[in-house]
Amino acid sequence: FRVPKAVNEPIYQYEPGSTAREKLQDTLKALRSKQVHVPLYIGSEEIETADKRPMSPPHDHQHILGHYSYGTGEHVKKAIDSALEARKKWSKMAWQDRAAIFLKAADLISGPYRYEMNAGTMLAQSKNCFQSEIDAVCELADFLRFNVEFMTEIYEKQPISAPGTWNRLEYRPLEGFVFAITPFNFTAIAGNLPMSAVLMGNVCVWKPAESQMYSANQVMRIFKEAGLPDGVINMVVADGPEVGDIVFKHPEFSGLHFTGSTAVFKHLWKEIGNNIDIYKQYPRIVGETGGKDFVFAHHTAKPAQVATGLARGAFEFQGQKCSAASRAYIPDNIWPEVKEELVKQVNSFKVGPTEDFGNFVNAVIDKRAFDKIASYIDFVKDSKDAEIIAGGNYDDSKGYFIEPTVVVAKDPKFRTMCEEIFGPVLTIYVYPKDEWKETVKILNDTSEYALTGAIFSQDRYVLSELTDLLEQNAGNFYLNDKPTGAVVGQQPFGGARGSGTNDKAGFYLNLLRWTSVRTLKETF
Ligand code: GLU
Repeated sequence: FRVPKAVNEPIYQYEPGSTAREKLQDTLKALRSKQVHVPLYIGSEEIETADKRPMSPPHDHQHILGHYSYGTGEHVKKAIDSALEARKKWSKMAWQDRAAIFLKAADLISGPYRYEMNAGTMLAQSKNCFQSEIDAVCELADFLRFNVEFMTEIYEKQPISAPGTWNRLEYRPLEGFVFAITPFNFTAIAGNLPMSAVLMGNVCVWKPAESQMYSANQVMRIFKEAGLPDGVINMVVADGPEVGDIVFKHPEFSGLHFTGSTAVFKHLWKEIGNNIDIYKQYPRIVGETGGKDFVFAHHTAKPAQVATGLARGAFEFQGQKCSAASRAYIPDNIWPEVKEELVKQVNSFKVGPTEDFGNFVNAVIDKRAFDKIASYIDFVKDSKDAEIIAGGNYDDSKGYFIEPTVVVAKDPKFRTMCEEIFGPVLTIYVYPKDEWKETVKILNDTSEYALTGAIFSQDRYVLSELTDLLEQNAGNFYLNDKPTGAVVGQQPFGGARGSGTNDKAGFYLNLLRWTSVRTLKETF
């Protein structure tokens, strides 16, 4: 069997006056005026609980898009039981059938549900229409199609056999169930984490972020419409520590597929370690966590290219990407030109609700994020060691709006050069151009993370030397480009050090973690 060759889903541009833009605007209006109820999906049931919590657009927090049902520990137990029941048939299903479900889901996303997917993420996560198109349509469909292709490549890998024997590998699912935890910031990740495990024949209990319930529900409904059998993915939301207590104390727990904060991931890892004697098998632990992603410019860099890399890399989706540029090291010879261009570009970004397509920067996800980011901006305002050269204002009266903010720090170890902020704040350190090697050393020693990084230079020897010097500092490394926007199938994504297990989302390496290989030797 061959599966259709995966290609990246083309990105709609939504030009003013285009039919695509009109359709998206109509869909936005329709979704805004509709009330959605998100149930818990457990086995064949869609459960509504008495504890219903509101979903609102971050850019218009008084508007209600609907509610989601909040579950209890009992629901989590039921979700695990349903997953284990579904496993009996699902783990034996031919891979072609599993593939067909997700290929169909990708076609539903890029076809009939395209505008709804885009509008859902625009409304519920406050992405602008372009960022939402890339995430909730293209990247999500790409994950599904490319994973299917990678799965078949894995299955084709077979050993040699000596005469009179036949060796073969069976790529079996893990025993038990996989637990997926997904973050608010990518609808594509919401689909990818449970999907990649179940594609390999596993069953899953999935806990989405509460600020992602609207789009998680869209993903779940599409998976079901595409033919995903009941119980293969069970979507539940309940109190985090209570869920963890039940999942990690279950003997059939077989793996964690996680995207979220470094602190939570480390905590869960310890929990799993503490319970290791309970499990039937060593659980697989796969996580993509925090970042303090850098841009390093050499004095041979093109100033305009650096400025664009910074503006786009730091402020797309309000900097709420693990990959977002949040610290930069710029040499003093090109700084005046970089500064002028950067400030011009940042000041041209309009801030406001997603429904106005002219707004490039929208709201940050919720009150907690808003308060945290605002406190960093206040810290900078109160400091003598840094100044704000663009942005710096915030307002949560209607939505959680924070201006894209550029800080220049006198000290490369200034607090906002080191800590993950996860918002639209970029801090720059201007270094004496001849001290670039010393500055690289400071960069290297500044953070525990190693997710993405970008270097800028027009000199091939310098690029090569920088790549070498920064060897351990990023799982995704960009030469003369912004450090964000990895495309499935083109730049497998994931970081090392405190940024994750570097199993590369949307790549065969990730899928390999969800299989337990049985080697068979037969003698004739
Ligand atoms: N893959 C995304 C990018 O390359 C980032 C994913 C994330 O924020 O977790 O920008």
